Amino acid sequence: MTTDLFSKFDGLINEREALLATGVRDPYGIVMDKVLSPTEALINGRKTILLGTYNYMGMTFDPDVVAAGKRALDEFGAGTTGSRVLNGTYQGHKECEDALKEFYGTKHAIVFSTGYQANLGMISTIAGKGDYIILDADSHASIYDGCSLGNAEVVRFRHNSVEDLDKRLGRLPVEAGKLVVLEGVYSMMGDIAPLKEMVAVAKKHGAMILCDEAHGMGFFGEHGRGVFEEAGVSDDIDFVVGTFSKSVGTVGGFCVSNHPKFEVLRLVCRPYVFTASLPPSVVATAATSIRKLMHAGDKRAHLWKNSRRLHQGLRDMGYKLGTETAQSAIIAVILTDMAQAVALWQGLLEAGLYVNTARPPATPTGMFLLRCSLCAEHSDEQVEQILGMFESAGRATGVIP
Ligand code: PMP
Repeated sequence: MTTDLFSKFDGLINEREALLATGVRDPYGIVMDKVLSPTEALINGRKTILLGTYNYMGMTFDPDVVAAGKRALDEFGAGTTGSRVLNGTYQGHKECEDALKEFYGTKHAIVFSTGYQANLGMISTIAGKGDYIILDADSHASIYDGCSLGNAEVVRFRHNSVEDLDKRLGRLPVEAGKLVVLEGVYSMMGDIAPLKEMVAVAKKHGAMILCDEAHGMGFFGEHGRGVFEEAGVSDDIDFVVGTFSKSVGTVGGFCVSNHPKFEVLRLVCRPYVFTASLPPSVVATAATSIRKLMHAGDKRAHLWKNSRRLHQGLRDMGYKLGTETAQSAIIAVILTDMAQAVALWQGLLEAGLYVNTARPPATPTGMFLLRCSLCAEHSDEQVEQILGMFESAGRATGVIP
């Protein structure tokens, strides 16, 4: 007799089938038929406002970015068919790393094929046997998976609790290697980390610090480097990890650092070595976008205006939100269960608005969320339209009075 290895998924399959049998659409089966701009797409033949992308700075359709990608596609072809350490480093990968070094003002930059792989690679490689990784309980899956791939001991602290971080670091052997892993913005609730206090505590215990700025790059801090820059702790963060799949508007991941031995990672970091490098067109779009983000003050200001307006409007309507005020470009609407979340999600979609649903295990403490993420290219009118849709769909589904 063969034991079906898929039987472990039966619970999830049954739960999904029961939900879809109520007649709702599958929130995880959306197809964009055509993308019209950073803020609009055709879904099921209907023009829909996008409020569930990570296109924070609206760079996906930037004419210079698109032109750079086309040029690289013509000149260098569709792909590298190789690892960065063999035949897969083109001039464009170096230019992309140069753009990152300039953006972050660091000596070193390494580009990975995704942000997920950047976390996987950095965390599993620099924290080894006998070392400790101390991470926030609400860390992104790529951080947890980086821990699983490596051999270090893993210690979790309560989400955003400086006191708990201090307590747990204090229990570790003084001489042991320690890596504290933090995120600037936590993407489920859209809250930011108290980095100033956390960095002070980590330093007190002699730990190195890695900060994931996936959701902070582009619009926090004087140069748009992230929450760590705004918190004034740039000199104390050892490694900043980021992605090209959000503000940069394409795909890829990176780590920047001033560590004098950083370049050895190109030889020892398995998720860098044992995978193909990014296509030339992708690194060309990324480099162009990163350079443009250095001068994107107006876009940043408009993104913040949009986030604050949406947060205030939703709160005034009676929605329960993930944060008291808009802390980032992510605004999480908290629902009671999956049925309510999907009902509101579908109501919004039918009205012409796409948002993301999120459920455990991605969310903290079993929460069901509709996650809204704003774009610098959303116009004031679009934000008002979005609020109107939330008002009618919220009333129709009984989520708000
Ligand atoms: N870190 C965080 C905090 C993220 O939210 C994400 C993606 N959602 C990643 C890393 C991975 O980025 P990528 O999409 O480039 O794999």
